[in-house]
Amino acid sequence: MQVALDDYVWAAGIATELVNTAPEVWHGEDHLPDLASLVTFAELHGPDSLATLARQARPAGLRAVHGLRDTVRSLIDHPSRERLIAGAAALTSPIGGTTLVPGPANHTRWAVSLRPGATILDALSLICGIGVLGVVQTLGEKRFRSCGSPTCQGAFIDTTRPGRRRYCMPGLCGNRINVANHRARQAAARTR
Ligand SMILES: [Zn+2]
Repeated sequence: MQVALDDYVWAAGIATELVNTAPEVWHGEDHLPDLASLVTFAELHGPDSLATLARQARPAGLRAVHGLRDTVRSLIDHPSRERLIAGAAALTSPIGGTTLVPGPANHTRWAVSLRPGATILDALSLICGIGVLGVVQTLGEKRFRSCGSPTCQGAFIDTTRPGRRRYCMPGLCGNRINVANHRARQAAARTR
């Protein structure tokens, strides 16, 4: 599997999705509870090669991915530039080599490959590392934020061009606010 170094938006998106499978975001319910859910996650967000690695994973591999999830969350929660760079650089240790891969219009782009024998943890770790480094380099450390919904414990990396993303799961958390505001108005109306 290869990760193009300029495709940090995709990589940071996977980092955000991974972080927001955590039980703290879902009132205690882990959204990556077993190996089957890990395969589904990889199929949903990655290339086929990522799903293949997920299918080879064992329970210890899943626990390691949970550890990675905590690590990435901790980077987003404490986004000092030095910490982000050091933490993300450590996540890129599964790099087996650097290469050029085909890009649009006959151009090539820099990419890193997984080392031989790499696991799903190695793949996700490399993706998250490249995602964080790319965002720090291109957009800056202010793009690492917690969810703007007061009822949500999620976090995200904002890779939008204007940088005004507010929610970890925009469709869901924005609606949570709307529902909360609606309920508050209803409650206020009843007490009048
Ligand atoms: Zn949220």
